[in-house]
Amino acid sequence: MAYQYDLFVIGAGSGGVRASRVAASKGYKVAVAEGSALGGTCVNIGCVPKKLFVYASEYGHGFDEAAGFGWKHEGVQFNWSVLRDNKTQEIERLNGIYGNMLGNAGVEVISGFARFVDAHTVEVDGKTYTAERILIAVGAKPFIPTFTGSDLVVSSNEMFYLESLPNKALVVGGGYIAVEFAGILNGLGVDTALAYRGEQLLRGFDQDVREFASEEYKKSGIDVRLNTDVERIELADATNQNGARIVHFKDGRSEEFGLILYATGRVPNVGSLALEKAGIETGKNGAVIVDNNFTTSADSVFALGDVTDRVQLTPVAIKEAMALIDYWFEGKDNNFDYDNIPTAVFSQPAIGTVGLSEQEAEARGIDFRVYQTDFRAMKHTLSGGTSRSLMKLLVNNGNDKVIGAHMVGDYSGEIIQGLGIAIKAGATKADFDATVGVHPTSAEEFVTFSAGSLKERK
Ligand code: NDP
Repeated sequence: MAYQYDLFVIGAGSGGVRASRVAASKGYKVAVAEGSALGGTCVNIGCVPKKLFVYASEYGHGFDEAAGFGWKHEGVQFNWSVLRDNKTQEIERLNGIYGNMLGNAGVEVISGFARFVDAHTVEVDGKTYTAERILIAVGAKPFIPTFTGSDLVVSSNEMFYLESLPNKALVVGGGYIAVEFAGILNGLGVDTALAYRGEQLLRGFDQDVREFASEEYKKSGIDVRLNTDVERIELADATNQNGARIVHFKDGRSEEFGLILYATGRVPNVGSLALEKAGIETGKNGAVIVDNNFTTSADSVFALGDVTDRVQLTPVAIKEAMALIDYWFEGKDNNFDYDNIPTAVFSQPAIGTVGLSEQEAEARGIDFRVYQTDFRAMKHTLSGGTSRSLMKLLVNNGNDKVIGAHMVGDYSGEIIQGLGIAIKAGATKADFDATVGVHPTSAEEFVTFSAGSLKERK
């Protein structure tokens, strides 16, 4: 049967754009449907604008720290609408670049949300399109639990377009988005509380990193509240929908906030796809189930990125798109390695991590040792800041390979990228020792760990 397209991609986010562009450049006739702005979550309401906000909020501390270096400044003011609108302008510029990239590659961009008619057919705004292959790359969306007053909170989506900043905000959650936005709000001068239901923030990260980061967040001014859960929320003034909210916590306390952000996870964005029409099976939270080569339960339909709910990271979706291209065009099975993915949390201070945490290494029964140090970064000798940095290296005793590197402190994200290469390449502690440090940096600590920094493990 002749189809209109070789490939129809649903979703022009990180994974969808990469797959569309490369498939078209290799000769496929490709269309991509996107109902929102080109670039998806990362470009529009995720990584990119978030990082711009992080830069903005770091100045908040920076002005204070500059005094110790001789700078005198008066009358420093922050204007939210300038930041928000400049950010939006930059995002619109990127949207244009994505449009050009797709156009130059010969990809047809169809504006609208697609839904399945069958395993080779989708419908967008009442028009049907047929394709030999369909790729689902629709990403994920914020999950907010339902409770009395849950309609009075916002998700990260809304944070990028707030009319104004509140004086006082509550962030609920303990993952990436919660700690990043708590840092942003705090740095921009908002009185910020971060409420997490469990014992410690950032579940899944190394325990020392979690504890250290949590203390640093407190030092930076965030009111970190652990073992804290919200029961219900109501308007302070029932006639003012945009006014303050009263949060009633499960421990019986109540408190007023101008803004409440729920950063309680993200779930696959499959709601409007009518997957059942194509016989596509889903798992937990609606995640599209795929085999090793991204094939769904319908042979002609593929899925990758956040909608498959494996690792919700832009660079992973892009790698998956490239692996899928290799599968289609070269017949190569996907061998993307989900181990040792470096990642950064752009909190303040930032966290960089790659490889195993101490707890994961223990659970795997590995015989390993830990080098660990924490120190006041040189900048803070004059800044007056009390912030400290943590660095930690895990080494397999059996083969001397470095199996994990973790950092809390300035530039962690930048530093961990290089360590990610070393660990991916199988570098040993001896290789780290043989590497000359860049002086004076914090990063050099990673190549100067000696027996004196060995951590006593329980
Ligand atoms: P996460 O899964 O990282 O964290 C969700 C948090 O919400 C957890 O602390 C979780 O607690 C808590 N939570 C879940 N349900 C509830 C509930 N009903 N009530 C109260 N708390 C709840 O999700 P995020 O939304 O922060 O981020 C989603 C993903 O996006 C991340 O996992 C990451 O992969 C990606 N991301 C990456 C970034 C980066 O690379 N810098 C930045 C932002 C996002 P508990 O631990 O107890 O389950």
